[in-house]
Amino acid sequence: MPRLRRVTGEPSAANLAHADAAGDPAPVLISLGAKIKVGSKKGEKVYDLGEFYTDLFETAMEHDEMVLEVQVPPMAPKTACAYKKFTSSRTIWA
Ligand SMILES: Cc1cc2nc3c(=O)[nH]c(=O)nc-3n(C[C@H](O)[C@H](O)[C@H](O)COP(=O)(O)OP(=O)(O)OC[C@H]3O[C@@H](n4cnc5c(N)ncnc54)[C@H](O)[C@@H]3O)c2cc1C
Repeated sequence: MPRLRRVTGEPSAANLAHADAAGDPAPVLISLGAKIKVGSKKGEKVYDLGEFYTDLFETAMEHDEMVLEVQVPPMAPKTACAYKKFTSSRTIWA
């Protein structure tokens, strides 16, 4: 996550909700088994982040829902991971 922050800035609800293929936080958080909580006046739902994305720029959110929370499970002791971005430029798009 510190490496991800250096590349993209702090992962934001907007970045995750936008479902842009250029977004770096989503694949990292999916690989970490993250869940995303969305809600509206009607109630809240929790999705595995990998199931939240239904297509490019499309998510399982209804139009009256917003991202409320991202839940990242703790990693097992003595576990590590790394994030490497393979692009020619920080500004390259998808
Ligand atoms: C040229 C370019 C290159 C980029 N490259 C990268 C990259 O390499 N890596 C990377 O990670 N990002 C990249 N981004 C940024 C990434 O696309 C944005 O973080 C993302 O599009 C969100 O944009 P924003 O912060 O301007 O949010 P906004 O435009 O404010 O929001 C994006 C969408 O999310 C909705 N939204 C905001 N908050 C919520 C919420 N809580 N619940 C539900 N919906 C919400 C908004 O209504 C809007 O529809 C790039 C963007 C551009 C333009």
